Amino acid sequence: MEKNAKIYVAGHRGMVGSAIVKDLQARGFNNIVTRTSTELNLIDQTAVAHFFDQEKPEYVFLAAAKVGGIVANNTYRADFLYENLMIQSNVIHESYNTGVKKLLFLGSTCIYPKMAPQPLREDYLLTGLLEETNEPYAIAKISGIKMCDAYRDQYGCNFISVMPTNLYGLNDNYDLQNSHVLPALLRKFHEAKQNGDKTVTVWGSGSPLREFLHATDMANACVYLMLHYNDRGFVNIGTGKEISIKDLAYLVKDTVGFDGEVVFDTTKPDGTPRKLTDTTKLNGLGWKHSIELPDGIAKVYREKFLEV
Ligand code: GDP
Repeated sequence: MEKNAKIYVAGHRGMVGSAIVKDLQARGFNNIVTRTSTELNLIDQTAVAHFFDQEKPEYVFLAAAKVGGIVANNTYRADFLYENLMIQSNVIHESYNTGVKKLLFLGSTCIYPKMAPQPLREDYLLTGLLEETNEPYAIAKISGIKMCDAYRDQYGCNFISVMPTNLYGLNDNYDLQNSHVLPALLRKFHEAKQNGDKTVTVWGSGSPLREFLHATDMANACVYLMLHYNDRGFVNIGTGKEISIKDLAYLVKDTVGFDGEVVFDTTKPDGTPRKLTDTTKLNGLGWKHSIELPDGIAKVYREKFLEV
């Protein structure tokens, strides 16, 4: 990828997209194209076709998607399926139509079967039933991977896919109902401390295990793979380390400095019991994460809640 290559980052205002733009700029790429959702509605096929015809990007990072936590995924099931299928189909197909040299599609580890052996290896895809709460989102993302592979097989397109574990970072969604666990906990503990509350409620039993990767590391891995990976199939992006929701809650509690009690609301769903990526393929390609979870949480807490 030349330093002046035209690179389109779809979803540049999102957590990963914004981090990808920063990473590219830091490496000296100076011809980055972006559009806000008001400027370009990625669900609109005609608008997307027009954009690609006009701009003719050479490289595409497809980091635009409708995303959310366990409750959002389960509540807006139709929207998660429809919007994601449309966005990715439009961008992938128009990338093919206009001769994009390389495209990177972002998936998620929720594409793996609910009861897949752990850690999750790339070849466990489509070996069992999905987790019910985010099945529509997962089905859309699986279609995206298969689209990249199919366009490679049929048309020789260099379209690759990556599957990040749970991500966290500054431009995350911090809404209490629809966010993922880590931003929700940061906000809950922070507000409880400010309000002098005695308890903070954490959803579910606290026993599920999750892996977390900082968005800056994620972006770094995406750009690295854009530069170095040219194969069908996809690559997991994670740390290979996991933590229980209970331990995570106590880690956030300590980071924030809240000294009340933690209560677990078992009427809320736990979701998948465990979701740990096998990072053998990623590490074998020469990339490893650099931000450890306690440092990452402290950094995000500082940037999001203290430096405002
Ligand atoms: P998942 O990784 O796709 O299951 O999505 P989430 O990040 O939303 O949830 C991960 C786990 O954290 C689940 O077991 C949730 O029940 C649990 N959890 C605990 N408290 C919260 C919270 O305040 N918000 C969210 N989203 N999840 C929570």
